[in-house]
Amino acid sequence: MRKHLVLVGGGHAHMMTLEHIGKFVEKGFKVTVIGPSFYHYYSGMGPGMLGGTYSPSDIRFATRDVVQKQGGVFVKDKVERIDPGKKEIYTRTGHTFTYDVLSFNAGSYVPMKAAPGRIEEQDNIYSVKPIEKLMEASDKLKALFEQKKLIISIVGGGPSSAEVAGNVWQLAKKTGRHLPEIRIFAGKKFMARFPESVRSRVVSSLKKRGIQILETGYVKEIKPDKICLESGETFSTDFIFMALGVKPSTIFEASGLPVGPDKGLLVNKYLQSEKYPEIFGGGDCIYFKDEPLDKVGVYAVRENPILLHNLLASLEGKELEMFDPGPEYLLIFNVGGGLGVFKKKGLVFGGKIAFMVKDYIDRKFMKQFQAIEKEL
Ligand SMILES: Cc1cc2nc3c(=O)[nH]c(=O)nc-3n(C[C@H](O)[C@H](O)[C@H](O)COP(=O)(O)OP(=O)(O)OC[C@H]3O[C@@H](n4cnc5c(N)ncnc54)[C@H](O)[C@@H]3O)c2cc1C
Repeated sequence: MRKHLVLVGGGHAHMMTLEHIGKFVEKGFKVTVIGPSFYHYYSGMGPGMLGGTYSPSDIRFATRDVVQKQGGVFVKDKVERIDPGKKEIYTRTGHTFTYDVLSFNAGSYVPMKAAPGRIEEQDNIYSVKPIEKLMEASDKLKALFEQKKLIISIVGGGPSSAEVAGNVWQLAKKTGRHLPEIRIFAGKKFMARFPESVRSRVVSSLKKRGIQILETGYVKEIKPDKICLESGETFSTDFIFMALGVKPSTIFEASGLPVGPDKGLLVNKYLQSEKYPEIFGGGDCIYFKDEPLDKVGVYAVRENPILLHNLLASLEGKELEMFDPGPEYLLIFNVGGGLGVFKKKGLVFGGKIAFMVKDYIDRKFMKQFQAIEKEL
């Protein structure tokens, strides 16, 4: 029997492993990738796609093609839980898979059910993840901007809220007849975990374009046509984005696997579960035991070579490599209107150049991985 490697999710941390599936197959291993979509969307360019800077095909990888062309198996499905004792994986459609080595890159989600009022997604309520949702929202908004002046509410006070607000403005400016009223419900303080130098630049860029930022208190209830604050104030709305911060995939808790405080898969310095050493993971869905990591794509990307090495080493019984999270990462927010806010260590600036740097880096990243699809 060939040893079986299963990858759950073809996200940012599995890119290099996906690129080298042929190598695993050549060595006699069977590789299966399970994911809910034939494509994986690069989140760093998601708000830019919402704003119309990029088309969906600019920002996605053809996961299924890359897997199949190298002799791997792609299964379009969602993993719900595993039984680590039996080494079995259970999917939403009722299928069961067995594995010898398993790696999770199943990402994170916006917990809608935990949102004030326990809302469900509706025609006019969209979460900022998965990125496919932004694609749907963009199409819907384009049509609505033609018809009337909308009120758009963004619930959440972090960077994804800022990026979505700025890019909704850009979309309306580019395509619509009516500019909407855009309101961010930011709780007590917008972009609170960022230094004032970053915060003030983002705030000023958004406010200059008439985007309102409310910092008067938390949202208590969300209805499709209304946002109610704890203070008793209510605001009518036509369209809502939920940008409340993300949580790791629910697979790990549902499977009784050791998890961190955020319920992400608990992994050691080898990106490996200590209790079940044949299980690995990367990206937003893990809790890195040595040093909790921010949920940013940068870490998922940095984990790539380690996962590639360790998955192969684990199948071959060779030595594993350690993951080093590396130095402080570069942050650039795309705040729409062709503008960005750049931060690397003490250097902070906003404006067109900041966006151009992000655009250059993101396009280069995409080109590198989209080239794999073309070469195969
Ligand atoms: C609007 C927005 C903008 C952002 N901009 C940036 C940025 O500019 N720079 C940055 O560094 N970070 C950014 N982030 C953070 C970034 O999105 C995450 O850190 C990054 O997506 C993590 O990558 P990942 O591969 O772990 O997860 P994901 O990108 O979420 O990928 C997970 C993959 O797993 C699949 N999957 C999910 N559930 C299952 C399941 N049950 N079974 C099988 N497969 C599954 C999904 O389809 C997906 O392909 C942004 C986030 C948002 C919401």
